[in-house]
Amino acid sequence: MIVMTPEASEAEVAAVRSRLETVGVHVLVLPGEMTTAIGAIGDPIGVGELGLEGMPGVDRVVPISRPYKLASSELAHHEPTVVSVDGRRVGGDGTFALIAGPCTVESLEQTLAVARTVAAAGASMLRGGAFKPRTSPFAFKGLGIVALRILAEAREQTGLPIVTELLDAAHADAIAEHADVVQIGARNMQNYALLEVAGKLGKPVLLKRGLSSSLDELLMAADYVLKEGNPDVILCERGIRTFETATRFTLDLGAIPWLKIHTHLPVIVDPSHASGDRRLVEPLSRAAAAAGADGLIVEVHEDPEHALCDGPQALYASDFAAFAENVAAHAQLCGRLLA
Ligand code: PEP
Ligand code: MN
Repeated sequence: MIVMTPEASEAEVAAVRSRLETVGVHVLVLPGEMTTAIGAIGDPIGVGELGLEGMPGVDRVVPISRPYKLASSELAHHEPTVVSVDGRRVGGDGTFALIAGPCTVESLEQTLAVARTVAAAGASMLRGGAFKPRTSPFAFKGLGIVALRILAEAREQTGLPIVTELLDAAHADAIAEHADVVQIGARNMQNYALLEVAGKLGKPVLLKRGLSSSLDELLMAADYVLKEGNPDVILCERGIRTFETATRFTLDLGAIPWLKIHTHLPVIVDPSHASGDRRLVEPLSRAAAAAGADGLIVEVHEDPEHALCDGPQALYASDFAAFAENVAAHAQLCGRLLA
């Protein structure tokens, strides 16, 4: 929509119309009492590139259509996307996915112990970091390829599909070989080259919301993966930066129903990184389930006091079965069963 200034002349309106017609959009001139507005229907990207803001008589250009395309629920005839990982469903009505595991793969014993515990309690997938994005370059960065082999062993023994982060395009082949779901971390949500690499791996992508990213930006990041021909994107709300410092991040619960309206993609929640505090993980998980999330990704450790990363937010493995049961009860209120 192009809004003209009150002083705009008919010739200036006609000049805007002519320029719009060069990109083939349907033009609708809407004269008002004070100002004239000009509607341009179709090709918003082409219109955006016309430089209309600089034309004489133009006050402002107001985009009406959404900036994300393939992720949008406006996409013609698009049913809610259901991502199927080895038969475990994420998205669609009726199921709730519980992805759980350690922040970081530290050893075979640690990973197998957690994997067995979460599998027995009804988790549908195992998470575990092999390549870790750390704020300080001196912190533990994960076991890398060794961790991927440990995760593969855990899958072998428990049957749980593996979710692990792709941090660097250089690791893409190794991740594609071992992971069932490729995670893009919050810090890389706007690493567009990495999103394109992830989109080409032929594996579902779990895309975390950036620490300071808007939901529009999250959906445009999803578009980067989708445009590579990969339809299997799972969005993850994991808390954002706000003025509040009591919690590690601020879980944006409103994002869940907003995303449910604006995108066909499944939406899960990470209450662990959002809160940074295990005491908040269950209440936030119940809230996410009640708000209509399609699942959770949660950190769990046998011995959080000695975890190499994110111990304070890890649930005790010994508490996980009770946690899963309480969350499942809330998911059931929304008609969902653990997937
Ligand atoms: C993680 O899930 O291990 C992680 C680092 O999360 P985020 O990218 O959301 O900080
Ligand atoms: Mn972590």
